[in-house]
Amino acid sequence: VHKPSRASLALLSAGAVLAATSCSARGASDEVSIAVGVYPLEFVARRVAGEGADVLNVTPPAAEPHDVELTSSQVVSIAEADLILYIGGGFQPAVEKLAAEAGDRAVDLSIGPDPHLWLYPLQLADVARVTADQLERVDPEDSGFALQADRLRHELQQLDQEFRAGLEDCERRDIVTSHEAFGVLAEHYGLRQIGIAGLDAEGEPSPQRLAEVAELVRERDVEVIYFERLLPPDLAETIAEETGARTALLDPIESEPEEGDYFSAMRDNLDALREGLGCR
Ligand SMILES: [Zn+2]
Repeated sequence: VHKPSRASLALLSAGAVLAATSCSARGASDEVSIAVGVYPLEFVARRVAGEGADVLNVTPPAAEPHDVELTSSQVVSIAEADLILYIGGGFQPAVEKLAAEAGDRAVDLSIGPDPHLWLYPLQLADVARVTADQLERVDPEDSGFALQADRLRHELQQLDQEFRAGLEDCERRDIVTSHEAFGVLAEHYGLRQIGIAGLDAEGEPSPQRLAEVAELVRERDVEVIYFERLLPPDLAETIAEETGARTALLDPIESEPEEGDYFSAMRDNLDALREGLGCR
């Protein structure tokens, strides 16, 4: 057994002191720490930053990201993170508040009033590129970030092609969703979204809204009412019963899938859409 000499022990502890006292200068062996607001950003951060990175998603599994509340340890983790990736515009005010104090360590990825940008694969590819740029700034010695972002972009372009081809030739184009999470997706693949609840998934829809949706379902021969994993399915079921439609899962991927990842959840969504819309 090799015993370290006194001299090397002294060097080790000197190194430890240096590491503990230097906050701004990152050593080559330090793990990059990234705090993110919602699962799809975690997925991108892990893919772009690679194995060594320490990624904290402040939305726990099976929880809803809208208006997420932070624990005190999450507040500390965000304050200490090398990089904070979040979607602004009121999606997660608690995260935005901390991000405002974090200066250029925090990056707002929002691109409009709709926070659900990850449901269009090419927008998530843009997020990957921005993440790589930011990681290069944090850790200039690691040259792998751009390459990993590029690989991810190719996979996302492939996914976009599958959606484009899979939703091209369909009998119907209206999708009834639990909340208006699929606007970006609908816009890019030529669908029309009818949301039971609004963009922020807040509050019970009014009886008038439910009647309106039921009316649209009849008018446009909608056959499937989509529910999601994190919201109770009762409203979708009520409308389905009233109109003779059936229900199916369409996952807005707002938290980590129980099985698989972003790509498998998106492909399940494509299958559910093709089936519900009668696509060939
Ligand atoms: Zn949402």
